[in-house]
Amino acid sequence: MSLLIIIFLEIVNKQIILSRFQRGVSMAATQEPLEQDDVADGAHNELHDAIIVGAGAAGVGVAIALGHAGVENFLLIDRREVGSSFEAWPDETRFITPSFPSNSIGMLDLNSIAVGVSPAFSMRVEHPTGSEFAKHLQDLASFFELPLQENTDVKSIEKKGDVFHVVTDVGTFYSSNVIWAAGEYQYPQMRGFTGSELCRHTSTVPSYSQLEGDDFLIIGGYESGFDAAYHLAKRGCKVHLFDKDSPWNEQSSDPSISLSTFSFERMRDPTFEENVKLFPQTPIRSVTLNDGIYEVTTADFQTYQSKQQPLLASGFDGSHRFVSDFFEQREDGFPVLSDRDESTIVPGMFLAGPAVRHGSLIFCFIFKYRQRFGIVAETIASSIGLPTDEFIDAYRSWGMYLDDLSCCGQECLTC
Ligand SMILES: Cc1cc2nc3c(=O)[nH]c(=O)nc-3n(C[C@H](O)[C@H](O)[C@H](O)COP(=O)(O)OP(=O)(O)OC[C@H]3O[C@@H](n4cnc5c(N)ncnc54)[C@H](O)[C@@H]3O)c2cc1C
Repeated sequence: MSLLIIIFLEIVNKQIILSRFQRGVSMAATQEPLEQDDVADGAHNELHDAIIVGAGAAGVGVAIALGHAGVENFLLIDRREVGSSFEAWPDETRFITPSFPSNSIGMLDLNSIAVGVSPAFSMRVEHPTGSEFAKHLQDLASFFELPLQENTDVKSIEKKGDVFHVVTDVGTFYSSNVIWAAGEYQYPQMRGFTGSELCRHTSTVPSYSQLEGDDFLIIGGYESGFDAAYHLAKRGCKVHLFDKDSPWNEQSSDPSISLSTFSFERMRDPTFEENVKLFPQTPIRSVTLNDGIYEVTTADFQTYQSKQQPLLASGFDGSHRFVSDFFEQREDGFPVLSDRDESTIVPGMFLAGPAVRHGSLIFCFIFKYRQRFGIVAETIASSIGLPTDEFIDAYRSWGMYLDDLSCCGQECLTC
């Protein structure tokens, strides 16, 4: 049989399996009420099978997977609205990973968070902006009829017996499982050297075109720092870009370690070459502010001055610290996870999204961490007695059920 026919049959097979999945995921009547004694004042007394905290790419993706696995009684909570971290990106910032409508040949669009979905196909954009992707997530939430609880800030979580009490600013919600998917973007890293609080984190910049001034000091030379440098250089600003390492010289093909192709292309833009000066292997010692002048001092005591507030592109602390009591910690501070992405000390607490780590594998892009959505969804579905064989086959065939990490190194996360 020719390869083309095999691929065609594979696609047909996938479509048959997918057509069995319900598009709608509703709050069905399987919700069990809690005993009145267990319910706090102002609480919502249904017991959910799962509560997902965070309606970003990870939360929406794992919610769709739960629905596909047959779990109906769950809730997706967000402190703002679906996709709000993406909505907050600087106007000019675009996805570095390209989208392409490759689903028809069985290869899921790199930026897709759900089986059968292609942002390239639906948006006709290769590198979406944050607000375009936020809209895409909102469209998915609406298409899949996800049970949403927006404008609800999770303040704390407690587990009493077998039940998680998810305490929010609008009351307490109850669940047998919690999937923590609150992301990184809203938890920027502001520490690292004396005076770092004087800097402005790139995640708080609404638009690079609105920043006043024509010379900028940027601390951090990975994707966000390069993105800032590129847009400022395009405007004709002079930029000094410092990094303690040298991501632009890394030889790894893993974009979690070296710069993306998109950024390498941008480095070759004439305005970037003309206006951006790169300082590799240059840790920062301090930032000071005197008489309206910011001074950045490097570890080897070189100083650089600017009237503009230095931009900090040093990454994110991540929201997993918020739930650190529920997980053992790895040496690097990330949660220790079971092979189901569940806590090893608190059953029923799961992690989804870019903070997922297994050994040296870093799942920090959509095309990486989506590979674990099927694992989490299947674990919860089978814990409530749902059959999952068909779900596993379909998700595995789309690269959304990665359960064998043994053959994966930095260069390969899709076995
Ligand atoms: C500049 C930049 C460019 C990037 N480019 C790419 C790219 O090209 N490709 C790629 O794959 N990835 C890219 N990423 C990474 C990508 O943005 C993240 O992988 C993604 O946002 C993570 O999704 P998430 O759902 O985990 O987190 P988020 O999108 O941050 O969603 C988390 C949600 O949780 C909510 N939340 C947080 N705390 C609480 C709480 N206490 N209570 C209730 N709700 C809460 C937030 O409101 C938010 O909506 C980029 C990141 C940045 C910063």
